[in-house]
Amino acid sequence: MDIVTFEKICKIYGENENQIYALKDVDLTVRKGEVLAVVGASGSGKSTLLHIMGGVDAPSSGRVIVDDKDISRLKDEEMSVFRRRKIGFVFQSYHLIPVLTVEENIQMPILLDHRKPDKEYIEQVVEILGLQDRRNHLPNQLSGGQQQRVAIARALANRPTLVLADEPTGALDSKTGEEVMVLLRDSVKKLNQTLVLITHNIDLAREADRMIKLVDGQIVE
Ligand code: ADP
Ligand code: MG
Repeated sequence: MDIVTFEKICKIYGENENQIYALKDVDLTVRKGEVLAVVGASGSGKSTLLHIMGGVDAPSSGRVIVDDKDISRLKDEEMSVFRRRKIGFVFQSYHLIPVLTVEENIQMPILLDHRKPDKEYIEQVVEILGLQDRRNHLPNQLSGGQQQRVAIARALANRPTLVLADEPTGALDSKTGEEVMVLLRDSVKKLNQTLVLITHNIDLAREADRMIKLVDGQIVE
């Protein structure tokens, strides 16, 4: 089953002679349950691809279907509901709230959405990510790798249809990055989720189920 379908997606920035195609006629499907790695040079369109998949940005043309819903032309409010319910984002920087504990940070998106956290499920996420003993810590009492694990737990907490990660290990040393990557991949597999992951690290990309490469806004392999 396909969870994402891109049909001839273009994203154009700028006007007239300054126009650039961040994405050009991209066709892509992501299957439910897979880990898809996206590689490519800086400026090749990787983040743009992820933003369109996650409803952060709308395409200039083409159609995006996520979980059987056409999100190409949603209004802003519909788009933010879609994002909150369906997407878990992980970025290079952790964006944790410094005055909240690990547990509170993890539950934050659910509380903001006025829903009740699924305690049992979140407990499972916390355990998979090895954060059991860190629940009541504040972010500044944690290492970089631990903070990123909290950010991953937060992304998974609302059982998103799709987990999108933009260079999640970019700020970590290579050993910690590798550990965090393994945990991220194992979590999405155990929890039956789908992961699209941008990485500069070709070794990490090779461990995905599938890899695509972008060059100048087009998929080349
Ligand atoms: P990557 O993540 O692979 O480094 P991006 O998707 O961020 O690439 O960018 C693709 C291209 O689109 C680049 O040429 C970049 O400069 C351009 N771009 C991205 N976002 C914007 C924006 N908000 N306004 C103008 N140009 C942008
Ligand atoms: Mg980028």
